Amino acid sequence: MLRLPTFTYRQPTSLREALAMKADAGPDGSYVAGGTDLYPNMKRRQQEPRTVISLMGIPELRAVGRADGMTIGACVTLTQLSTHPAVRPTAYHAVAEAAELVSTPLLRNMGTLGGNLCLDTRCNYYDQSYEWRKAIDFCMKKDGAICWVAPSSPRCWAVSSSDVAPVMVAIGAEYVLTSSSGERVVPAARFYHNDGINYLTKQPDEILTAVRLPGPDGWDAVYHKLRRRGSFDFPVLGMAAWVRWDGAKVADARLVLGGVASHPLEITDAGATLSGSALEPEAIAAAAEAAFRPAKPLDNTDFDLSWRKQMTRVYVTRALEELRARRS
Ligand SMILES: Cc1cc2nc3c(=O)[nH]c(=O)nc-3n(C[C@H](O)[C@H](O)[C@H](O)COP(=O)(O)OP(=O)(O)OC[C@H]3O[C@@H](n4cnc5c(N)ncnc54)[C@H](O)[C@@H]3O)c2cc1C
Ligand code: SF4
Repeated sequence: MLRLPTFTYRQPTSLREALAMKADAGPDGSYVAGGTDLYPNMKRRQQEPRTVISLMGIPELRAVGRADGMTIGACVTLTQLSTHPAVRPTAYHAVAEAAELVSTPLLRNMGTLGGNLCLDTRCNYYDQSYEWRKAIDFCMKKDGAICWVAPSSPRCWAVSSSDVAPVMVAIGAEYVLTSSSGERVVPAARFYHNDGINYLTKQPDEILTAVRLPGPDGWDAVYHKLRRRGSFDFPVLGMAAWVRWDGAKVADARLVLGGVASHPLEITDAGATLSGSALEPEAIAAAAEAAFRPAKPLDNTDFDLSWRKQMTRVYVTRALEELRARRS
């Protein structure tokens, strides 16, 4: 059985207190929300904080409010998000659906929106016990020097595996980050780096306090997920599609893939292809082709990688057909 190492657990009740605790703990301190990512990682010694600072006792991080769109606190659980009456039956249903597709009910009861958006990147050579990783002399993401997926590569290719992050990038959400120097707001797309080790642009002391969803002004979005076991697994391909309608035509579109890179990957060519169309079969086929080319999954998650690449076309097609069907 894998056991947690010894650590100090702190429970602030305000943002100010949490930031002070993190400053005290320095690089050995880590925030935790539901703990469904951090604690398994600590058991495998992938992350080794000596002080863990829980964000769950800070009331403002658990609020959901309407103000020029929708603001969702980072510690809202995935279960709350997927069932919330101000999210599920509204323009934001793709957010609720992506949250509902995460893992299992138990993990969604604990796991939070903020933890999902800050989720560690994943790789078959990394998500293993300490002894397993030691047997291969580790890898550059933790304790080692080489990447076993691409041995001549200077970077880590671990995969962004959050279900909700691609939706946030697709709909143009903004993240509110708070540190001792104040608050800043970043577009979701700019929160992520295409690097398996430094996958967030967030500073270590910054707390993701809330996510702002844009006002519902004529857009629609969907999220589809490919995984082995429909009741449990991480995505090996996530497909978030967003369109803004102008009458029967698409005025603007964004397609974002999860599970194929170290960040949610926006397919800009595919979005451009759809503008001005009515999502006719030809336009959808062109967008699917545009998404197929840059989707370059590596051999570090589940399934055969060439099959996963082929599935990009299928998932883009299904997502766009759903958007078209909903419009008509
Ligand atoms: C068996 C299993 C299956 C899973 N399947 C899926 C899946 O299908 N899809 C999926 O997307 N995820 C999956 N997960 C991962 C995880 O359960 C979810 O992503 C969950 O939403 C993480 O939220 P959390 O609150 O538990 O994160 P935590 O573990 O508390 O935190 C995760 C990381 O985010 C940081 N963090 C958390 N909140 C904040 C904040 N507000 N500000 C700054 N930093 C913060 C923590 O420091 C930590 O580094 C799975 C996990 C397990 C164990
Ligand atoms: S992609 Fe390479 S460096 Fe990154 S976790 Fe996997 S094996 Fe390690």
